[in-house]
Amino acid sequence: MRLLEGRSVVVTGGARGIGRAIAEACLEHGGRVVLADVDADAAEKTAAELARDGAEVLPVGCDVTAETDVENMVARCAEAYGSVDVLVNNAGITRDATLRTMDSDQFRQVMDVHLYGTWLGTKYASLRMRDQGHGSIINISSISGKVGLPGQTNYSAAKAGIVGMTKAAAKELAHLGVRVNAVQPGLVRTAMTEALRPEIWQEKLAGVPMGRAAEPAEVGSVVLFLASDLSSYMTGTVLEVTGGRHM
Ligand code: NDP
Repeated sequence: MRLLEGRSVVVTGGARGIGRAIAEACLEHGGRVVLADVDADAAEKTAAELARDGAEVLPVGCDVTAETDVENMVARCAEAYGSVDVLVNNAGITRDATLRTMDSDQFRQVMDVHLYGTWLGTKYASLRMRDQGHGSIINISSISGKVGLPGQTNYSAAKAGIVGMTKAAAKELAHLGVRVNAVQPGLVRTAMTEALRPEIWQEKLAGVPMGRAAEPAEVGSVVLFLASDLSSYMTGTVLEVTGGRHM
């Protein structure tokens, strides 16, 4: 069964890591993907790698903190595929530091990409989805937004904010046929976490009952579920993908 046959999917931060895995999962299930990333060359390279066996992948350069970029990304999807059925607000950065050493730029950059970027994407996609009468928006939060992680006051606050935004948007958009849900991954093996020191990895893994980090595809499959009609009666929910960490 192909869960997204013919449906259009926009993924931000899609050039690598979890975003790339989300794009792959959607393509495998018949979706047509706009692969957006702040690094336009990386988006093009990844799109070329994924566009095999007739898969439709359109690379778009998009900084999610730039309103005109986000508006353009959504418009490009509608032009290319005739609709905007799914948006995944995935783009993310970290700027870790202890509260006492973090500077204002580190705080603001993380807020901008995660919170403002998610808000912009949701706003422009929902305008299209309202006109279509359907849509599914999936926001990538983090378990840090539930429990708070030391060294990540900026990131934890932004990821908790995404949960609040998800619920408010879900309530605003439900009567238009638009669902909005969030995913909170725990430790996932990507460039974002591979830079962590080995002792920090061990410390994090010690708290995971399943005893290992997630592969990006294990987040991709949960996003696929939320994008598809299998979750047709779910909105405003937050799904944890943590191997049991922070139960
Ligand atoms: P990666 O760093 O591997 O990938 C993030 C992607 O987002 C990169 O391609 C990056 O581009 C892009 N990006 C960064 N800033 C912007 C921007 N302003 N506009 C558009 N694209 C941008 O991260 P992950 O795949 O690990 O993370 C994906 C999401 O999952 C993030 O929201 C992250 O917070 C969340 N997450 C990750 C976890 C993990 O353990 N890895 C755990 C929980 C949540 P560039 O490379 O050019 O910077």
